Amino acid sequence: MKREIYDEDHEAFRASVKQFLDREVTPHLELYADQHGLDRAFWLAAGKQGFLGLEIPEELGGSEAGDYRFNAVLTEELAKVNMTLPSCVGIHADITVPYLVHLTDDEQRARWLPGCASGEIVTAIGMTEPGGGSDLANLRTTAVRDGDDWILNGSKTFITNGGSADIVLVAARTSPEKKAKGISLFAVDTTLDGFSVGRVLDKVGQDESDTAELAFDNVRVSGDDLVGPLDTGFISMMQFLPQERLGSAITNLAHAKQILEETVQYAKDRQAFGQPIGSFQNTQFLLADLVTRVDVTQAYVDQCVIAHTKKDLTPVDAAKAKWWTSQVQNDVLDHCVQVHGGYGYMNEYRVARAWRDARVTKIWAGSNEIMKMLIGRDLGL
Ligand SMILES: Cc1cc2nc3c(=O)[nH]c(=O)nc-3n(C[C@H](O)[C@H](O)[C@H](O)COP(=O)(O)OP(=O)(O)OC[C@H]3O[C@@H](n4cnc5c(N)ncnc54)[C@H](O)[C@@H]3O)c2cc1C
Repeated sequence: MKREIYDEDHEAFRASVKQFLDREVTPHLELYADQHGLDRAFWLAAGKQGFLGLEIPEELGGSEAGDYRFNAVLTEELAKVNMTLPSCVGIHADITVPYLVHLTDDEQRARWLPGCASGEIVTAIGMTEPGGGSDLANLRTTAVRDGDDWILNGSKTFITNGGSADIVLVAARTSPEKKAKGISLFAVDTTLDGFSVGRVLDKVGQDESDTAELAFDNVRVSGDDLVGPLDTGFISMMQFLPQERLGSAITNLAHAKQILEETVQYAKDRQAFGQPIGSFQNTQFLLADLVTRVDVTQAYVDQCVIAHTKKDLTPVDAAKAKWWTSQVQNDVLDHCVQVHGGYGYMNEYRVARAWRDARVTKIWAGSNEIMKMLIGRDLGL
């Protein structure tokens, strides 16, 4: 179905992203997987193209267009290559950077944003802790005031870009008695004494990313690195999470759609019983079902993109997009593996890796159960 949300500027931007990925990224994917992480050359190259600064004002080195559809195009193209790229780039450029743009003062913006746009500063966001990720209001990492500084203690886990980030935006408890209203955000420089990266985690999929554990042992953070007003971190996270969830939804769908297209081709090429497997009615019906699910879902996600571009996307609609697309993605990819037969289980086939890479999308960015909880609350239940 023809999509109506993009104009020729968006499509020209898409072409430049594609060209960049073909030239400078795809040839290195095996290297990223082997080393369990993107490298600085990737970030600098993406920064040079202007892909990391879509949320950053021009005078600070970015290319802010004030049009979320450019973010959506970038996310779609990254997702067509694999799931890891939009995750890592998204955590930096689409998720963490907006906090640094909108919650900071001029001095902080001048200090951080040019590097974020160029790729000299890579960021991560540390919300989840070993004790729990869904119940953010109960996080345990503490920040205690000491003169003009703050002393951070605690740990975070499952942090995307955690092994390589220069700045981690850390959610820490600043007022123990105030629960959700006692959390603040700090931009923690990862070269500070007492900060350490633990294990780079051995995941089921997304081998190309350095998801890591982080520890804070009496890390002295300057008061100048507090991001946003004291004790408002939880509210800020709630404000910024819809963009994270929409980015997840765009990724989930673009990723599934790409692999489905490749699977349709496979069904035309692969023979069994002297005929293409796509000519069996079961395969036809299955693929017809899957492309319908993807196309119908695309219509909803596109509406969310338009709403977000107009700054109208509600947290509940973002939650619907996030859980639904991750379910569709996982269902579609599981069927795509089946259509590939034994080859679908071999890591050298993209479909196998895509299937592994996708499993997490029902868990992260707020698990699907938490998304349904938000939707249920909105129904007054
Ligand atoms: C690869 C990867 C990358 C990640 N990247 C980041 C990152 O960059 N930064 C970051 O901060 N976090 C990150 N996360 C963490 C992710 O957001 C959390 O894993 C997620 O929020 C779930 O938290 P949890 O793992 O502690 O599960 P838990 O909160 O322990 O939940 C376990 C299960 O219980 C269910 N559950 C919990 N509460 C309820 C409830 N009230 N009702 C019904 N069911 C419930 C959950 O849905 C889930 O199924 C990442 C995770 C992964 C796996």
